[in-house]
Amino acid sequence: MIKKKSVILCALFFLLLAASAAWFWAVGQRQECNPLCFVPPDRDEAVSFVVLHHFSSSPEDAISNFNKFGFSTHYIIDTEGNVIVIVSEDKIAWHAGVSFWHGEESLNRISIGIELQHDNFGQTPFSKKQIAALKPLLQDIIKRYNIRPENIVGHSDIAPDAKPDPGKAFPWQEFAQDGIGLWYDINDADKMENYSVKELLDIIGYNTKGDDLISSAYAFRRRFLPEQVAYEPDMAMRGNAIFEARFKASSLPKGERAAALKNVPRIHPEDDGTFLTDPLFIKTLRAVAYSYKKARDN
Ligand SMILES: [Zn+2]
Repeated sequence: MIKKKSVILCALFFLLLAASAAWFWAVGQRQECNPLCFVPPDRDEAVSFVVLHHFSSSPEDAISNFNKFGFSTHYIIDTEGNVIVIVSEDKIAWHAGVSFWHGEESLNRISIGIELQHDNFGQTPFSKKQIAALKPLLQDIIKRYNIRPENIVGHSDIAPDAKPDPGKAFPWQEFAQDGIGLWYDINDADKMENYSVKELLDIIGYNTKGDDLISSAYAFRRRFLPEQVAYEPDMAMRGNAIFEARFKASSLPKGERAAALKNVPRIHPEDDGTFLTDPLFIKTLRAVAYSYKKARDN
C-alpha cells in the first residue's frame, strides 16, 4: 500500500516538474522576441491584397512598438533597402486594422503588409534603394498569389479617415508602369461622365458611407492627384492623437467605443469639400474609375 502511494507521489512529482519545465520554456520563448513576442495566427483564407504602409522610426523601434501594442507586418523595408521579414506570409499580421476596399472588410486576414521606413510620413521622395528593393518583392508576391492590380492598395486607401500612408510622395504611377497596381489615362475621363463623385469612388473601391466620403476623396487625391495635396507639417500630431484615441477605445466595452471615437480628429486637414467640384479632381476621378472598372471587368 505504502509502495503504491509513493509511486503515485513520485509520478505526481515528475508531472509537476515537467509542467514547470514546459512553463519556463514557454516563457523563455516569449521573452526571446524574435522579432515578435507573440505568435501570429495561421491564415485560413487566400492572400488577395497587398497593403503598403510607412513608419517613421528605426526598424528596431518599429519592432518594439509592434511588441508593445500587439501590431505586426510581414515585411519592413528600411531606407537602405534592407528587407526584414517580421511575420511569414502564411500567418496573419495585424497591419490593416479597421479597413474597407470594394466591399471587402478587415483586410488583415487576406493581405500582406509591407512597411516602408520614411522619416517624413511619405511626403518627400522615397529612397531609391528602398524603391529598388520594394519593386521585385511586390512583383514576386503578385506573381505567387496572382494578386489583381486593383488590390494593390495603400493603408490610406483602405482606412482613409485614420491613415495617411504610404503618403503622397509614393511613386504609384511609376509602379503601375512596372505592372504593380493601376494608374489612369486622363483621356478616358469622358467615358464615365454619368457617374456622381460617390459612385466613382465606389467603383474604385473606397468606402463612401457617411462621413467617409470626404476622407476617401482626400485619400484618392493623395494617391492619384498628389500635386493637389498640401504638405502637412502636423501629420505626426494628428496621427498620434488618432492612434491614442483608438487604442484607448479598443479597451472599452463595445457599447462605449463609438461615443469615445466620436470626436477623434481625421488624418486629413479639416476640409469643406470644395475640392469635390474642382474640374481636375472630377476629370481624374472619372479616368481612375474607368481604369478600375476595366481591370475588374477583365
Ligand atoms: Zn499603415
